[in-house]
Amino acid sequence: MLSSLAGCGSGGGAPAPDEPTSTTTAPLFANLAKRWPGPAIPVCWDVPSDATSRGWVKDSVERTWAQAANIAFTGWLDCTSSNQPGVHVYPSNYTVGDNRTGLTLGVGTDVDGVYGGVTIDIQCGQDTETCVRATAIHEFGHVLGFYHEQQRPDTPSTCTAGNAADDAQEPGGTTLGPWDINSVMNYCNPNPSPLQLSPGDVFGVQSVYGRKPSGSLYIGGNCLDSFGGDNAAAYPFHCDGSSSQQWSALPGSPVRHVADSLTLGGYHGTVGEQVMLHASTTQPVAFDGTFQWINLVSNGGLCLGTAAAAFGRPPEIVNVECGTVSDRTWIYDASRGQLKNENGVCMLVDASTRRLFYGGCSASSQPRWAFGLGMMIDLTTHECVEAQGGSLAQGAPFVTASCDYSLAQQMTLQGTLRTPSGFCLNVATVDEVWSMPTLQWCAPQETQLVRWVP
Ligand SMILES: [Zn+2]
Repeated sequence: MLSSLAGCGSGGGAPAPDEPTSTTTAPLFANLAKRWPGPAIPVCWDVPSDATSRGWVKDSVERTWAQAANIAFTGWLDCTSSNQPGVHVYPSNYTVGDNRTGLTLGVGTDVDGVYGGVTIDIQCGQDTETCVRATAIHEFGHVLGFYHEQQRPDTPSTCTAGNAADDAQEPGGTTLGPWDINSVMNYCNPNPSPLQLSPGDVFGVQSVYGRKPSGSLYIGGNCLDSFGGDNAAAYPFHCDGSSSQQWSALPGSPVRHVADSLTLGGYHGTVGEQVMLHASTTQPVAFDGTFQWINLVSNGGLCLGTAAAAFGRPPEIVNVECGTVSDRTWIYDASRGQLKNENGVCMLVDASTRRLFYGGCSASSQPRWAFGLGMMIDLTTHECVEAQGGSLAQGAPFVTASCDYSLAQQMTLQGTLRTPSGFCLNVATVDEVWSMPTLQWCAPQETQLVRWVP
């Protein structure tokens, strides 16, 4: 098992050999024995390379794996020794092997403290940026302990990618969830260079590493942190679940730092002003940041909304791609527990089927929605919202069911933190820690997209 490599052909390269034996789980195919204890997973660079390609690698894994699960890739400096603990990335400037764009020396903690544990060809492909980014996402899937999806024993015969001899099924593995053709770990993915995790990837990595802790407010792969106290800075830092990273961010209410109950905002409300904590009871405040229009992101990273094909039919609330489309951007009235979307219709529950649907906001039997423990709860029935059966499929209907604290019922609120004057919290880049947020003109960009775990 030490002899083989988790070689990879993402980024347009052809399939390549792979890798060891062991146990498995989830829509992804994982070796749980080689799970990192986490959440911090140190990363260093074995040899110098240019900042641009380093940035592509770091940024890509921060906004995929690190964003999806309770993982924090830390460091990203030059390695100080050949066996320094953590993930060693070797940026090669030549094609790795015959047609590989990258490889890893095993999976999961196999690569811990191993020189060249991960090799990424930083000049690969015709579109080098896409190739490097896709390769990084795929290789870091191996780093987290995942094998190729096509190695699962339930791989359909129609998927024949991969080297038959080296890419054989992993013996003794167990899989949960459906085989996922859209996984970034699947050579049969119709997209040869996926830059986003599939819903199955998101669910799989959360199954192994968990979600971000309740109270986390995160941008990219980092969590908003503060030492606390009046005028204290708020800055992105590696997510660690500590009390300094606990925020209350119910939509429509000012965002508060839980430890000291101070509000996230500022004094002038001008573009470029740094966002900080302040005691709104004792000082005049020009703005407080609040969530207004939010996406409700469910299990697998899809959102509560309407399938386009469903227009004209009973307006059920189903799993759809997230975005700023009016049917899936919600505002929350905490006093009434009401969720209303941008079209002015409310989220209701069918009393018999328990399915969620859009209806009038004055309907007699309004649910009272609340958020907590990472879940979305109907206070009238004390049931929790989930895609029916935990489905990760687009178009799957949402229902309320007995709260069971499973991943299927976990919900994240996603949107911008907007001031009454119409500016948004913005970070310089989604992958840098200590990049102090400032107020900027609101724009649909990743550097303003904030996610809160209730
Ligand atoms: Zn691979």
